[in-house]
Amino acid sequence: MATIDIPARSGRAFRVAEGKRFRIVTPKGKQAADFFAYAADNVGEWLSPMHSWVTTRSVRPRPGDILISRYRRPMLELTEDGAGGVHDMMIAACDQARYEHFGHAAAHASCSENLRNAMQRCGHTIDVIPQPINFFTNTQVSPAGELLSPPNPVPPGAYVELKALMDLICVVSSCPFDLQIPGWTINDAGGPTELTIELQ
Ligand SMILES: [Zn+2]
Repeated sequence: MATIDIPARSGRAFRVAEGKRFRIVTPKGKQAADFFAYAADNVGEWLSPMHSWVTTRSVRPRPGDILISRYRRPMLELTEDGAGGVHDMMIAACDQARYEHFGHAAAHASCSENLRNAMQRCGHTIDVIPQPINFFTNTQVSPAGELLSPPNPVPPGAYVELKALMDLICVVSSCPFDLQIPGWTINDAGGPTELTIELQ
């Protein structure tokens, strides 16, 4: 089994052949993993959580769910959830503008930049940031429809396992979010930590 270490606040791209499985692991827990996937032969076709909602009828990915592209082709199956269902498919990837919105004027690492850089290293310049699946992210919807982000409960060693249903380029970003926003916690209070990819 090959592994890829993703340092805290960084992103990495990796290829997965059709039929192969891989795991995304948060070794220290409480670390959001922004996940993107592209068809290996056409990076204009990407994983779309919003299209997937219609087939899974859920705003959270669950074992057995088939996750589809924006062209509605099956891309991935969530085969195991070792994180207790603490995942999000609604919040856009963080970017410089979001950090500025929260009052951080200086340059800040972001999942959007991590995605662009990881794809650039594969030879692909992208100009759209797709909606990620934010694994290990504790977004909740109140009965009134309000979005809540309580402290992250994901324990050390939690993981998800996915199976590729076509040849893919996948990207995972260790979300660099570290601002102290009352009522809007993303990662551990101690700051972002590393992630590990385990390839079958
Ligand atoms: Zn992020």
